[in-house]
Amino acid sequence: MNLQSSHIAFAAGTAVYLAIRAAFQRRASSEEKTLSRADMRDRLLIVLVGACQIGLPVVLILTPWLDAANYTMPIALTWAGTLAMGCALWLFWRSHADLGTSWSVTLELNRNHRLVTQGVYRRIRHPMYASFFAMGLGQALMLNNWIAGWAALVAVSLLYAIRKPHEERMLLESFGDEYRTYMRCTGGIVPHFVLRATSNS
Ligand code: SAH
Repeated sequence: MNLQSSHIAFAAGTAVYLAIRAAFQRRASSEEKTLSRADMRDRLLIVLVGACQIGLPVVLILTPWLDAANYTMPIALTWAGTLAMGCALWLFWRSHADLGTSWSVTLELNRNHRLVTQGVYRRIRHPMYASFFAMGLGQALMLNNWIAGWAALVAVSLLYAIRKPHEERMLLESFGDEYRTYMRCTGGIVPHFVLRATSNS
């Protein structure tokens, strides 16, 4: 068994992540769905992300199977990872709180679906996916293992690249100009003003 303190901190962060999801899942599951784009590819992506966020870290912590891929890192980077994980959990919680019953694990719309453009959705359209990226960075810096550490960032990048265009097409078809205007004023996972500032510098 491989129980470093950063592994314990990561396991605690994952427990908080699962508790937030479980609390909001209960609320959202009572909503009647009127449109679903939940195809096999979308479901496989969800399973892949879960396996990389939770499955591989469990294998790393409870077995010696991935130990050959371990490396050491300056402690400051492990602390930076813990900070990234903390920020990610806050953003994940706020995304769920702001989306409310408009959230679903696959690509779906419910009968009373409303377009959320406030709270953490004010400047970016995908704060929940942004929180997954930050969580993935935290995982990479906290687990010190090439496989269990970095796999989640790869899986989340795939989810974002493949799912985002489908999700935005579904919302464009349903909300039309309201979503088109929202897209013009927001970035995907980075606000427009940050992108503009970096491209001008
Ligand atoms: N991409 C968003 C939400 C992920 S959850 C994020 O990263 O924060 C996926 C579900 O959220 C989709 O099925 C879609 O119906 C819903 N959704 C995404 N953006 C939304 C918005 N701005 N308002 C309401 N629902 C939204």
